[in-house]
Amino acid sequence: MSASLDAATVQSREVGANVAESDSPRGLGELCVLMKLGEIVLKGSNRQLFERRLHNNIRAAARGLSQIKLSQRKGVIVIRMPGAGDLEVAELAERMTAIMGVVWVHLVRRLPKDVDVVTDVAVRSMAEREGTFAVRARRRDKRFPMTSSELAGYVGAKVQETHGLPVKLKHPDNTVFIEVDKDEVFVFTDGTPGPGGLPVGMSGRGLVLMSGGIDSPVAAHRMMRRGLKVDFLHFSGMPFTGPESVYKAYSLVRQLDRFQTGSRLFVVPFGKAQQQLKSSGAERLQIIAQRRLMLKTAEALAERLAAETLVTGDALGQVSSQTLTNITALDDAVDVPILRPLVGMDKTEIMTEARRIGTLAISELPDEDCCTMLTPRQVETAAKIPDLRQIERRLDVADLAEHLAGAAQVHKPSFYGAAAPAA
Ligand code: ATP
Ligand code: MG
Repeated sequence: MSASLDAATVQSREVGANVAESDSPRGLGELCVLMKLGEIVLKGSNRQLFERRLHNNIRAAARGLSQIKLSQRKGVIVIRMPGAGDLEVAELAERMTAIMGVVWVHLVRRLPKDVDVVTDVAVRSMAEREGTFAVRARRRDKRFPMTSSELAGYVGAKVQETHGLPVKLKHPDNTVFIEVDKDEVFVFTDGTPGPGGLPVGMSGRGLVLMSGGIDSPVAAHRMMRRGLKVDFLHFSGMPFTGPESVYKAYSLVRQLDRFQTGSRLFVVPFGKAQQQLKSSGAERLQIIAQRRLMLKTAEALAERLAAETLVTGDALGQVSSQTLTNITALDDAVDVPILRPLVGMDKTEIMTEARRIGTLAISELPDEDCCTMLTPRQVETAAKIPDLRQIERRLDVADLAEHLAGAAQVHKPSFYGAAAPAA
């Protein structure tokens, strides 16, 4: 455990890419991905469920890349990609930043459990840095000969000696992390935050009513983040509108597929049904009647897909169809629960979130929204449920909803391209 590193030793330990990569059969020196997990309050069987889902989701997102080796440690996952180049490992790390349940993603080198090597890498990692620094050490393997604080103190002194940077333990400008494991040590400085939340699939399955607008993609993302695996349902105004809204829905789902993979988009041409509602005298109730029919169709489809809930992008009071009375009238249309994760949010907050998850620019593309077609000049803000039911009776709406659900065309917008065939 000698701390003196003469020039020759340093060279032979051209750490990072060179040290051990070539001379270690066990892959020490290789670049890998270390992830910190959230929701640490989870205990017992919930924790197992969390980890099992997470591992499956990680493997699904890594499809098409070289084979991965996943190792679950306490609150941490390490993913190795033996034999892969650094660029491919970086691509893997990038994909991992979209995995729900992950709080931090770090690209790290696997180092041998040798204090000199670790110190050397830590010192190099602070070259060309400015400002204060701190070293944080952690041992998942308590048999390591130094305690965490001894190791941090030792490495910190070397960094200070080499680069002349001042130590600051609270709120430093730079942090060097050292994590000691059973077979290796990881050293890293920076990371990328993950989305947190729960692994997709852990909370069951839902069906998102997906317009081409700004709100519904954000609603979908929020529910995925709480562990819901979702399918998507879009109503186009076809045959009375062009297919633009379908293209938008397709690219929105493709963008959201990064967060769950395996997404399905169901598209229902809704124009004729809208016309039928109009012919049966919906008038001021046209929009609410349309939205109820959308929900009934979604409920019929959800049953076929074994989805337990619907998700919409409604926000209280945002537009006239979203007054409290109207939302209540929408709830009355179906038995299945409707989740509205944006109900208490402002439009500006929703837009900020849409920008962050990469859907805003797509939502802002022009299209012909089926909802504004056949819209009356006056919209009822306090729809009465008996009036709505009466319109629906004239139409035999249950059959119509079943028919529409059956007419849905399915697409599979995949962010990472077609899945590679299973080995
Ligand atoms: P969005 O930005 O999501 O379009 P919005 O503010 O425009 O929402 P509405 O048009 O009243 O509000 O729609 C409310 C919700 O109804 C949407 O968030 C979506 O869940 C659902 N919805 C509306 N239009 C459609 C559609 N054409 N296809 C599928 N779902 C729709
Ligand atoms: Mg809309």
